[in-house]
Order: sequence, then structure tokens, then C-alpha cells
Amino acid sequence: MTYHPALSEAAKAFLKCEHQLLIDGNKVEPSSGKRTDIIDPGTGNVISTAAEANSADVDKAVAAARRAFEGPWRQIKPAERTRIMFRFAELIEEHADELAELESINSGKPLVFCRNGDVVGIAEMLRYMGGWTTKMGGDTHNISLPGEWHTYTLREPVGVVGQIIPWNFPLNMAMWKIAPALAAGCTIVMKPAVQTPLTALRIGELALEAGVPPGVLNLVTGRGDPVGEAIAAHPGIDKVAFTGSTEVGRRITQAATGNLKRVSLELGGKSPVIIFPDADLEAAAAAVSSSIFFHAGQVCAAGSRLYVHERAFDQVMEAVAKRAREIRVGHGLDQGTEMGPVISQQQLERVTRYIQSGQEEGATLFAGGNRIGDQGYFVQPTVLTDTKPGMAVHDEEIFGPVLCAMKFGDDDIEQLAASANASPYGLASSIWTRDLNVAHKMASRLQAGIVNINTHSSPDATLPYGGYKQSGWGRERGFDAIEMYTEVKAVAVKLS
Ligand code: NAP
Ligand code: MG
Repeated sequence: MTYHPALSEAAKAFLKCEHQLLIDGNKVEPSSGKRTDIIDPGTGNVISTAAEANSADVDKAVAAARRAFEGPWRQIKPAERTRIMFRFAELIEEHADELAELESINSGKPLVFCRNGDVVGIAEMLRYMGGWTTKMGGDTHNISLPGEWHTYTLREPVGVVGQIIPWNFPLNMAMWKIAPALAAGCTIVMKPAVQTPLTALRIGELALEAGVPPGVLNLVTGRGDPVGEAIAAHPGIDKVAFTGSTEVGRRITQAATGNLKRVSLELGGKSPVIIFPDADLEAAAAAVSSSIFFHAGQVCAAGSRLYVHERAFDQVMEAVAKRAREIRVGHGLDQGTEMGPVISQQQLERVTRYIQSGQEEGATLFAGGNRIGDQGYFVQPTVLTDTKPGMAVHDEEIFGPVLCAMKFGDDDIEQLAASANASPYGLASSIWTRDLNVAHKMASRLQAGIVNINTHSSPDATLPYGGYKQSGWGRERGFDAIEMYTEVKAVAVKLS
């Protein structure tokens, strides 16, 4: 096999491994004996293989997670959990280049973003969440019942958690779920996306090296059906956390009803970007481009619906189209690449089909529109104008580098907010204006879990992240994530 010249020896050695499942701290053959090819989306070539688990492997992982939950992970003092998590963060930093290379070649995202964004971000997430272990206690209460009372709450881990993650941010999506679960004292059965298991497997090894006891973090690689389905339905799992499509989120919710396990969902969106004419239009246009073209638009919070005031429309659109034409699209590991491929042939077909259908439904192709080359899965940064509600490109999550741009006039704020809110999704949004009144009035009217003002992204571990409406249930990051992995127990003592 020939490897990309940017790959280090460490990354190549990892790609060559015969990857197994990680159960109870051991590398385990999948019961099926089957393996999946792992593809570099920048070339379409096979770069590694992974084990394909089935429901029998999920059973084993759940049993291991239960033992670890009732055993070592419960007994380890909170401060020691913090130290283990900090050590885990340090190991990630020590292996930052290798992790970034593996993330880039497997997900297609340019190396520089993987190195400076994802890897740095997951170490921060571990430290942020690791800090909560000693600080997440309960409360005491001022009781008004007759007599004398002492009451308090305990915050306890929810138990064994199943975590199912997508392929767009394999490292980040893994750590957004692993870190709060570890901090809360839960144990984990995780299913990475079938296309992108590599970095999760590598951090699984680092977790053990950091001192996370065997069985606390189990990795069951394989397909949604059967592995994801088995996790969602498993009676031995107390909570399932999912990131991915709305359709699968619904299936998981239904499967979870058997034992009424807790469910949290992060389901993507169709996030509006709203530019008022008084904004810094240059900064706004640059952010529009990065919000939709970053990682080829495969971002749940991508700014995929653009609303620009008619007085600013031409200027903004010209700058966005210029940027769309200039973005350097290429292999994630090539120096200078700004946008990589989409993840798969299937995703390539999905995105190009949307671009086609948009034009058939009356949208105007303003920039891009085509596949690039016939090797790897590259799509041109694409801009559609004259898009309207009712068109699939306007209403549905494309998950590709495709922007739908619309104009607004001097409508009142209510009407503009109604247009922005006319979506089943409600994940992110951004507002561009220098007028504080307009900014905060819009912020209160938008039905979105995240409102950014004069930026489209705010990637900090402290800020809760999640959606209104069909963008999901619950919040990741921040203390909200700890709440999702804990139960609150009220203890009431009647003193005599
Ligand atoms: P998906 O099917 O929702 O995949 C997400 C995860 O769920 C993967 O690990 C997947 O396994 C697993 N899964 C699939 N079917 C399952 C089931 N029945 N029960 C339990 N788990 C199951 O997403 P996709 O098909 O890869 O992408 C389709 C569209 O979803 C995208 O175009 C995009 O619109 C949206 N999406 C959103 C996000 C986000 O961040 N919100 C991320 C990815 C995709 P496999 O590995 O076998 O697929
Ligand atoms: Mg799917």
C-alpha cells in the first residue's frame, strides 16, 4: 500500500493494524469474524480495516461496562478521576500529530483543522469535564414541612451509557460524549460511525494508558444495524446519546422505550445566517463562507440558509461567490488544502442530487454546482440563490457545501424571525448587525439552541450545544452535559 507522504510512521503503523473491538480493556475479535474496509475519502482507496461487531458483541461490552460501573469506576475518588482525565488529555496532546493525521485521512478534513481544532478541542473538553468531578455535588433545602428536617440531593451517575456517533467529526463527537460521561462516573459502550472508527480506537488505547480502568470505555465498531440498534434497545443500558440524522434519532428514541432509557439527541439542522445592512459586511461574508464550506458543509451547525438585507445582498453575495471560487479544494493531507472531500460516494451522490433538484425547482446556480474530478469525493463550494420554502434544498439538511441564499427587505423583525424559524430544525443561527436592539430582539425570537452574534461559531467547552425542535433533545458541552449523565436523588430526613 502506498501512503500519503504527509503521514508519519506512527499513523502508518496504526493504519496497518488489524483493528479489533475494545471490550473490558482487551482487543477482541468480533463474533461475526467480519471486517469493514476503511476508505480515504480523498482518494476512494482502502487505507485500513475495522472489526464489524454484532449484537452479541454489544452484550459483552454492556456486561463489561456494568462490571466497571459497579466496581472500579464507582470506587475511584472524584479527584482521582480528574487526574486520570487530565492524564488522558496530556496523552492526546503527546499524540496530537498522529491523531490529526488519522482524523484527516479518515474524515477528509484538512490536517490543519484537525490538528489545531479537533485535537486541541478534545484535550480541552477532557480538562473542562474533568474539572467537574469534584464540583458536581447536590444541594440542601429550606424545608417548610411541619417539624424539623434535613434534606439534600445527591448527584449520581446515570449508569452504563450507549453512545452512537457520526462520521463528520469523529474525534470531537467521541469526546463530547466520553468526557462528560467519565466525569459523571458513567461507563460507556460507544459505536463510532462505520466509515470513521480509527481515531476513536486510538483514543480508546490512550484512555487505558491514562489509567481509565478496563471496561469503562468500550468501543464496538460496526454498522448502525445491528450495533447501533442493539445499543438503543439494550435493557442493560441506562442512557443512549446519539448524534446523526433525524431519521435515525427517531428510530433510537423508539427502540429506547423498552426500558425507558434516557435519550439525548443531537440531530443537525438548517441553520440561518441573518445579515443586516449595517453589519461589517466583509467579516459577515467571510464567516458565511466558512460556516457552509468548512469541512465541505458536513457540520450540523452549518450556516446553510443565508438571509441578507436587499441593500447588502449584492456585495455579500459577490464576496461569498468569490470565496467559493477561490477555496482550495483537495486532499486533507495536502498542504494548503482549505476544503476536503465529502465522506463517501453515497454522500457525494446525495449532495449533487440536491444541487440538481434545487435548479429543477427554480433556484439559480450562483457558484459551483459540480463534482470535482473522478477520484475521491470532491464537490465544488456551491451557492444557490432564489431559493424558497418548499424546495428540498431550502427545507432539508444537505450536509454538503451548498448554501441557499435569500434576500429580505425592510420587513419587521417578526416577519424575518418567522422566515428563519420556518424549519423543523432549530440548532444554530447567527445574526450580523452593529445594532444592539436588533441583535438582542432577534436573539430572543430565534428558535435555536445556539445564537451567535457577529460570528457563526463559538466552539468552547463551557457553552451548551444542542437544538430546539427536531434538532434534538438535551445539550452537550457545559454543565448541561454533566446533567445529562447524572440522576438527582432527593434525600429527606425527618429529625425527631
Ligand atoms: P446516520 O445514519 O444518522 O448515522 C449516525 C450514526 O448512527 C452512525 O454511527 C450510524 O451507523 C448510526 N446508525 C444508523 N442507523 C442506526 C440505527 N437504526 N440504530 C442505531 N444507530 C444507527 O447518518 P448518515 O446516514 O451517516 O448520514 C445521513 C445524513 O444524516 C447526513 O447527510 C446528514 O444530513 C445527517 N447527519 C447529521 C449529523 C450531525 O452531526 N447532526 C452527522 C451525520 C449525519 P453507521 O455508521 O452504520 O452509519
Ligand atoms: Mg444512515
